[in-house]
Amino acid sequence: MGAMLALVDVRGLGAALVDLVLPGECAGCGVDRRPWCGACLAQVGPPTRPWLPGGPEVLAAGRYAGPLRAALLRYKERGRRDLAGALAGLLAPVLDEVAGPAQESTIWLVPAPSRPAAARERGGDHVARLCRALGARRADVRVARPLRLARRTRDSVGLDAAQRAANLAGRVRVRRGDLPGAGRVLLVDDVVTTGATLRACRDALAHAGVPVASAIVLCDAARDH
Ligand SMILES: [Zn+2]
Repeated sequence: MGAMLALVDVRGLGAALVDLVLPGECAGCGVDRRPWCGACLAQVGPPTRPWLPGGPEVLAAGRYAGPLRAALLRYKERGRRDLAGALAGLLAPVLDEVAGPAQESTIWLVPAPSRPAAARERGGDHVARLCRALGARRADVRVARPLRLARRTRDSVGLDAAQRAANLAGRVRVRRGDLPGAGRVLLVDDVVTTGATLRACRDALAHAGVPVASAIVLCDAARDH
């Protein structure tokens, strides 16, 4: 075994292992520093307010680029569920900015739903997990999961704004038994591009009698600001 390993080109092996960042390492680049190394953290943010025609008001932790994008992809697509805490740490100041200091009334985080097939492939809903990690940081925050996407909803990658809206029209379902109680409701998502998902979620909740105050998002991939 040792002899076989000695034959492997160490540089080639290193390149192959770049994506296998282990717990205890920076979420962005994998150096031995957690949850983020200084170099990666310096490249995340500042928070942005993408302009979305038709709303809702959104505050994002940073642009969808560099270490933030790398960490989200590891978390979302490469099975690194343990990065929920590192990403929630970036979203925490965004939540504080939107929600203000600790409240008497409850702040409800409502995750934007994933397609059921995508959530199954990822071993659970990654935005809901992010919400739970974020909610654990403030005593006045609770998580409610009333939203579901219909099974026939397509992946929105590659769709323009009108196509995204059409793809989601009538496909965000509300489970009334899981609606948030009294308090302020914030939508949460991982990436905002056109805002179609957030609008569909907001409208579905409004239809169920639950007004949405605004949204907080990890990554801003919107074109307009
Ligand atoms: Zn790093």
